[in-house]
Parts: sequence; structure tokens; C-alpha cells
Amino acid sequence: MTEKSSKDTAWLAKAVQNGDRRALARAITLIESARADHRGDADALLETLASSGRQALRIGLSGTPGVGKSTFIEAFGCRLTKAGRRVAVLAVDPSSTRTGGSILGDKTRMERLAREPNAFIRPSPSQTHLGGVARRTRDAVALCEAAGFDIVLIETVGVGQSETIVAEMSDLFVLLLAPAGGDELQGVKRGIMEIADLVLVNKADGDLKSTAIRTAADYAGALRLWRKRDGDPEDFPKAMTVSALDETGLSEAWGEMQKLAVFRQETGFWDSRRAQQARGWFADEVRQGLLRRLASDPKADAAMARLSDDVAEGRRAPGAAAAEVLGRLGNDPV
Ligand code: GDP
Repeated sequence: MTEKSSKDTAWLAKAVQNGDRRALARAITLIESARADHRGDADALLETLASSGRQALRIGLSGTPGVGKSTFIEAFGCRLTKAGRRVAVLAVDPSSTRTGGSILGDKTRMERLAREPNAFIRPSPSQTHLGGVARRTRDAVALCEAAGFDIVLIETVGVGQSETIVAEMSDLFVLLLAPAGGDELQGVKRGIMEIADLVLVNKADGDLKSTAIRTAADYAGALRLWRKRDGDPEDFPKAMTVSALDETGLSEAWGEMQKLAVFRQETGFWDSRRAQQARGWFADEVRQGLLRRLASDPKADAAMARLSDDVAEGRRAPGAAAAEVLGRLGNDPV
């Protein structure tokens, strides 16, 4: 890192800690950058801010397109900001890895919230793979916490692995569903039911209200069949109805989220989970660093190509060949 970039990083860290939203946006752009020279600055920035000790309530929120995520986040977020809370909205959009664009966390989807001085909205980073998006989002969450946000909402769509990735970086995981008949209930993947702390059946208004109430009761029944997670209160995971449009049920939903968060804080589950998450991310960073080093080391790369042929043709055993490649890795820092 040059002297100038180290000064810039120190300035940026201070501005982020002062809660300056423009600085926060710049800091996130820095951590999302693929440029190798930016990586050093980004690491230095995150390291400086790591000691801030500030924590937000991280809420993961998932739901299929059209279920009402942006309507919900807008209504829910505005309530929280009106009550004096600072709310950040981030997104993990698996489609952004293919298209380079993101439909989640888009300010035009949440215009009212975007105008709130206590809110910060950021679309999903576009990267070549979901692992990259996860890593960037994780760092963005840390930046939002350092900037003094009380609540970080991490939005994702209900496809593939993205929910697990978001659940892993959240303190609470909320699943938004639409009112549906009994058959459709079966369509919700078991995996996602297992990670949801709170199931919210949205659109409980007008003609859909009675279906929504029935759907929530069905889910409540299904959730009771799952074993309650260690360290959680007896009545969680829970299902209830909301209407993001009419803004009903939102205070109740927030009440449940707070109840669970406080319970987990008091039992020590919160701290141990955060510690476990941090350990996992550290191990992940080491693995990623090794892979980067492998890819950028010409000698190791050449050895890998040659040994890969040897292994394929049965001349060498995979384990010993891998050890040889790793042995060729230079000792330069990544
Ligand atoms: P997203 O794709 O999950 O972000 O969904 P949107 O928030 O864009 O909502 C999709 C559609 O559902 C829009 O036409 C919304 O107006 C509508 N919608 C969202 N929430 C509600 C609700 O609580 N009740 C009703 N009736 N419609 C809703």
C-alpha cells in the first residue's frame, strides 16, 4: 500500500465510522473491486474498522420474485427509520452473477425508503460466482455495522444456494411467502424451512386474507414438526401473516424478531454463533487466498497442468501429485 492510499484508507475509515453514507458507498465499492491493488486497501480498511465493536441486528430475508420483498422491506424499513433506527438494505442476487445486473436492493424498488436519511440501500455486487458475492456482502455487512447501522437487512431470492449463504451471515432468517393452497405448501424446500426463524405469509389483505391465514396455520403446523433449534425459545420457528401493502402485522413481526434476538443474546447463542461465523470466514479467506496464489503462480500452474495429465493417465496418485504442486507455491504474500 502506498503512503497516499494508506492516508485515503484512514480518512475513509473515519468517515464510515461517522456514519457518512457517501463514504460507506465508496467503501463498499472499494471492497467489491476486483483490482489487486484495491484488495490491500480494502483489507486495511476492514481491519481498521473491525475494532469498532459495533453490532447490528442482521436479518436475512428471502422470498421468490413477486412475493412482496421490496414492498415489505420498504414498509418495514420506513417504520424502523421513523422509530429512529438506522437501517441498511443489502442484497445477494444469484442472477447478478450471470447477468452482471441486479434486481434486488434496487433503490427504484424502494423509493420511499431510499429517501429516508436513516436508510442505506445497496444492490447486489455482480461477480462471476456466488462465492464472490457472498464474500463481498459479508464485508459490506461489516462496513454497515461500523457505520453505526442498527439493522442490516440482507435480501435474497428463493433460489439455489443463496438462502443458505444469506442465512449463514445473518442473526435471524425470515422467509416471506405468498398465500397458497395445501399442495403448494409441499413445494417449499425442506432446506429453507429448516433455516427459517420466522415465516411471514404476505398479502394477508382483501380477498387473499383468509387464504393467507390458512397458509400461515399450515406452515405453523409444519414448523412444529421440525425440532426446535438448540438455544431457541419453545415457540420458534414461527409462522404469521402480514400485509406489506396495508402495513398490517409488521409491528408484530418486528416484535417477534426482537424477542428472538434478545433471547439469543441472553443465552449466549448470539455470541457463540457470531464467533463461529467469523472462524468460518477466516478459514474461507485462507482457502481463497491459497487458490488465488495457486492461480497466479506460473510454476505451480505449469506443474498443475503437467501433473493433472499424469494423474489422468494413472502415472501418479492424486494425493502425492497435489502435494508436489503445493510444494512449488512461492512464499509471496497474496
Ligand atoms: P418482490 O419481487 O418480492 O420484491 O415483490 P414486490 O414487492 O415487487 O411485489 C410484487 C407485487 O405484489 C406488487 O404488485 C406488489 O404491489 C404486490 N404486493 C406486495 N405486497 C403485497 C401485499 O401485502 N398485499 C397485496 N395484495 N399485494 C402485495
